[in-house]
Amino acid sequence: MTIAENLRQVRARMAQAAQRAQRSPDEITLVAVSKTKPLALIAETAAAGQVDFGENRLEELWPKVDAAAAAGLNAIRWHAIGTIQSRKAKLALGPPTAESRTTSDAICLIHSVDRPKIAQRLSRLAADNDHPLDVLLEVNVSGELSKHGFSPASLVDALPALLDLPSLRYCGLMTMAPFVDDAEEVRPLFRKLRCLLQELRHTFPPAQFPQATWQHLSMGMTSDFEVAIEEGATIVRVGTAIFGHREYE
Ligand SMILES: *Cc1c(COP(=O)(O)O)cnc(C)c1O
Repeated sequence: MTIAENLRQVRARMAQAAQRAQRSPDEITLVAVSKTKPLALIAETAAAGQVDFGENRLEELWPKVDAAAAAGLNAIRWHAIGTIQSRKAKLALGPPTAESRTTSDAICLIHSVDRPKIAQRLSRLAADNDHPLDVLLEVNVSGELSKHGFSPASLVDALPALLDLPSLRYCGLMTMAPFVDDAEEVRPLFRKLRCLLQELRHTFPPAQFPQATWQHLSMGMTSDFEVAIEEGATIVRVGTAIFGHREYE
């Protein structure tokens, strides 16, 4: 299978899932998760019409952003989807070296603000750079200890303080479901995230909190993106179904 063919199949399955939920496929963004994959494959994917790419490590993201820019792949939108270590938070704002060809706004969305400390740190760095960041808040809806993210209750408690941070724009919520054999098992978790977003829209309405647009639900990966779309995902993050299995994480 070529990447173009994989991509075509993922898009077709997305469209079918959207149709089952009476949604327009246009309201769902596919992020191609290119972690561990070389620039050549990213270029091939971009040539097949893919615009949004996701990387989970910032130290891996910037060399790719640079290489992509050098190769003339200028239409790519980069998403930071992985946990950000506090001491590496600076990398969410821009490349580590001044020689980089890319500008600090190369990352269009950070999906993984998973604790108050990282929110505070990102906001401070963003304020210093005079460059507000678009972020999603990561929620651990399964309660699995191995998963990152706010519990739904802790998020509601933390939000007043989060909304006071000057330089973050809250665009919605993200979750990672546990790996299961049958995607139906995670449907209730996706539904829970959608209900939480609705609750936040009501409790912290954009009319009153313009820094919170609450427009996105980033949920669904290779094993469960169709169920996620049926449950309201506006962004799905798909790696394996496009690029094949990863040799390392
Ligand atoms: C790797 C990764 C994905 C994609 O996983 P696949 O199962 O390969 O589709 C999605 N989201 C995050 C945060 C990831 O780290």
